[in-house]
Amino acid sequence: MADSELQSGPAEPMLLADHLALDLLNTEAGTGGQRIDFWRNGEDVSRWLQRCGIDGGTPEAVDQEALLAAAKDLRATARELIELRKRGEQGDPQRLNSYLALQQSVPVLEWTKDSVRLVRRGLLQSPLHSLGKVAEAVAELLATGEFELVRQCEHPDCVMWFYDRTKSHRRRWCSMALCGNRHKAAEFRKRQQVEK
Ligand SMILES: [Zn+2]
Repeated sequence: MADSELQSGPAEPMLLADHLALDLLNTEAGTGGQRIDFWRNGEDVSRWLQRCGIDGGTPEAVDQEALLAAAKDLRATARELIELRKRGEQGDPQRLNSYLALQQSVPVLEWTKDSVRLVRRGLLQSPLHSLGKVAEAVAELLATGEFELVRQCEHPDCVMWFYDRTKSHRRRWCSMALCGNRHKAAEFRKRQQVEK
């Protein structure tokens, strides 16, 4: 991510990873030693869940501090396991499994004037239940993802992750508009210095 982006914003974490599990890691971003955490409170987490298309239930009903703590813990767990998997090492799935368990749901029969439907409803009607869905994306990546396509942006200062879904599998940057252009500008300056 470019320095100017860090200083001025963006206000929201960018969803550019092409995988929910990696967008989760990218809610912490930064260049060099500088890191910013886009999650400062429970509302930040709820908003992120919503932007990712995950129904957060009724946020009022949830202890915002508990949500923030759980989301950050899930993110740290995901980061550890994804990094281990990337290095070809074995991880301990126990903590991730406890987040998967948040998804527990029961079948419910809904009967209205117009229809009779069998649906599944989460036992926890809250954003904590939604964290279970995020945990599932992490587990799904770990179990079935092609890890040579799970990569970090090539810019030496950038910590953003992505899943390379391009046809040629040659994606190098978190975003062409940020690090791709920074790289191009640096290459251009190098060429100019050689020509002088
Ligand atoms: Zn980058």
